[in-house]
Amino acid sequence: MRHGALRAQEADKLKEECGVFGACFREDAAVAVYYGLVSLQHRGQESAGIAVYDGSRIRVVKGAGLATEVFEGDAFKRLPGKTGIGHVRHGVCQDNDVSGAQPFVFRHGGGMMAVAHNGSLTNGRVLRERLGRLGVVFQSESDSEVIGSLIARYFSLGMVGAIERAMEELEGAYSFVVMVDDTIYAVRDPYGFRPLIAGSGPAGWAVASESCALDAVGITEKRDVGRGEIVVISHDGMKRIATRASRRSCPSATCIFEYIYFARPDSIIEGIGVAAAREAFGAMLAREARFDADVVVAVPESGVTAALGYSDESGIPYRQGLTKNRYMGRTFIRNSQMERELGVRLKLNAVERSCAGKRVVLVDDSIVRGTTGARLVDLMRKAGATRVDMAVSSPPVKFPCTYGIDTASRRDLVAAVKSEDEIREMIGADALHYLSIDGMLEAIGGLASARDTGEPLEFCTACLDGRYPDAISCHGKCRPPKSLSYADSGVDIDEGERAVQLMKPAVKSTFTPGVIGDIGGFGGLFKPDFAGMKEPVLVSGTDGVGTKLKIAFAADRHDTIGIDAVAMCVNDVLVSGASPLFFLDYIGCGRLDAGQIAEIVGGVAEGCRQAGCALIGGETAEMPGFYPDGEYDIAGFAVGAVDRGRIIDGSKIRPGDRVIGLASSGLHSNGYSLARKALCEVGGFLLSDIPEGMDRPLGDEMLEPTRIYVRPVLALIERVEVLGMSHITGGGLVQNPPRILPHGASMALSVDTWRRPPIFDVISRTAGVAADEMFRVFNMGIGFLVVVRPEKAREAVNILVDQGEDARIIGEIIPGDGRVEFQGV
Ligand code: SF4
Repeated sequence: MRHGALRAQEADKLKEECGVFGACFREDAAVAVYYGLVSLQHRGQESAGIAVYDGSRIRVVKGAGLATEVFEGDAFKRLPGKTGIGHVRHGVCQDNDVSGAQPFVFRHGGGMMAVAHNGSLTNGRVLRERLGRLGVVFQSESDSEVIGSLIARYFSLGMVGAIERAMEELEGAYSFVVMVDDTIYAVRDPYGFRPLIAGSGPAGWAVASESCALDAVGITEKRDVGRGEIVVISHDGMKRIATRASRRSCPSATCIFEYIYFARPDSIIEGIGVAAAREAFGAMLAREARFDADVVVAVPESGVTAALGYSDESGIPYRQGLTKNRYMGRTFIRNSQMERELGVRLKLNAVERSCAGKRVVLVDDSIVRGTTGARLVDLMRKAGATRVDMAVSSPPVKFPCTYGIDTASRRDLVAAVKSEDEIREMIGADALHYLSIDGMLEAIGGLASARDTGEPLEFCTACLDGRYPDAISCHGKCRPPKSLSYADSGVDIDEGERAVQLMKPAVKSTFTPGVIGDIGGFGGLFKPDFAGMKEPVLVSGTDGVGTKLKIAFAADRHDTIGIDAVAMCVNDVLVSGASPLFFLDYIGCGRLDAGQIAEIVGGVAEGCRQAGCALIGGETAEMPGFYPDGEYDIAGFAVGAVDRGRIIDGSKIRPGDRVIGLASSGLHSNGYSLARKALCEVGGFLLSDIPEGMDRPLGDEMLEPTRIYVRPVLALIERVEVLGMSHITGGGLVQNPPRILPHGASMALSVDTWRRPPIFDVISRTAGVAADEMFRVFNMGIGFLVVVRPEKAREAVNILVDQGEDARIIGEIIPGDGRVEFQGV
């Protein structure tokens, strides 16, 4: 079956590549999706598909052809269920190649997922290569596979987190729907290139590429999915979620060709009726070029509304001068030139009564390749028109579209290679006028400002003027060269300066008497006070926060991560008995967001205040393309001091000494790869969920900052001889205590002497993580250990409790070979 590229009239148009639909209905989602797809059929005729969740798995039926052809016979019997998504596609692939038919169904760690997409990723090839190197195998050329693979990859962040994370990497135009179990996630890119509208009605909730498809299934309350927004649709209703992408402040760039040609006239996009826009374009065309004519004739069907606008504005009567054969089979036309010409004649014919002896203004919506204009003008003349002036209700198409519209290469776009006069001559018209870009924007701007939303609305006009909204050049193809700035490469120096200004008060709040100078110097200056120390020794520590950052990204919460960075360093320094003096941080990010950096550094400052050390320096490195937008890494560096004679190194520890445990605040900053996999991937928990046994949302629990033990432990050291200390960091309770045990000593810990935060049991229970693995990875409720003589143990506990710690004797030193023995596991 071959048709798309061969329908000669359509071949002279830009071609929409897809339409998507999704429904959570009280019954028979497949039927609703089918009606939706039939309504979206103008967006793609190469293939159609529906995926439905049947209560336990996703079933899919898809194939080449129109929706009416694919869903013949008992197709619906194979699609039982109340939640479904569907897709119609205009492809550029070979005959009968259904590999690109959508939705695509993915199996991943968390189950099954179906994806259908409209648009085109400008970095699709790059992402495909990257995912390929990671072992992902693709079955088609479709961007939907790239999107699905990315989401599956980040599934441990929960669905919303995974989609948001994937959006950080997607560039270009995308409006897609993802179905996981009985929930649909509808997503639109931050520019809003392609339309996507969601709504509700008596039968349920639905989302579609165009509002006309929602009308077809009785959806009454409709709203455009916002730019960069995720709309979650389930049988409980509809929830809108703003993402980091939606906060990126990209300008809106709704495709102007949706109004010119693609969308159905009865659709409403961003509050503007498509028919109203076409009429306004026609009216503006008449103001720009009022031909001296007797009748206005439209090229059916997309030129009709603009022709009516032209007629109304000019006062020249509208007549049906061309008629279209609606019943010509799609498969009739073949590939030869003769057959194509025959096809055009069969498809369109002139109405002689409207044209004979008349001066005709022939209105078409666009000319792309210029292959049909000559035939249309010829039809008019053969019907007796005495003059044919061609009026086009869009500006000349001169540049290829990179956002999901099937355009020819630039050399095939007639307006890119010929002047208007050459085109007029080529099609044989007496005159030719294209709507100007300014006129087009003025016409639609009037409709945009009349909307009641008040939101500014801008349009993508890249195929008309080469101004590609999301790129500094159209991938080297189209834009005039301009001088390249650092900002063009993604590094915003001004934003960096703004971040410094925002973080200043927090940084200054950490300054201790030793700090010399101000913020902004090349090196941080610090004059230590070593009074009372006979032989001062500097102790340094460095660490990061690890994949706990993934939780911060997913929750879009960045004010506590800095505390973790400080805690991981100063607790290490403290183990030697040193007082932290100062701290420096390093933050590397993909795109510098001053507010976000100030939030992170605010956390660093809070950690420094808790530890009593000064934040004397830091570096924020913006590395676009190295980290995804919205993501960052953080590392810290702490320096402390201790008198050499008072260094605590565990060498005095001996059997019989007591081990005091200081409670952790939770996971601290270790074991997050396992925790995320267990909770978000295996357990399928969202960060907003409260798993059984816990009393607050998982996101709050996982972002609880690492406890800083500096002040209570330094207070203890002043009053009690401390023999050894251990920070329970990576390696958990198995690997950290042995780092301070002298030869011939082991540590026995009674597990039932302390309270374990419930998250550890949730992890173990959810993913079946064995107890020995839990103790090897996590702190299991103990963040810091102190070893003292048995006779000092009670006093030490009291001091720590007075300092606000949950401290208790949890074990003792025993003869052994340097291991930890757990009793009561
Ligand atoms: Fe629409 Fe043209 Fe922009 Fe493509 S380049 S999104 S067809 S306006």
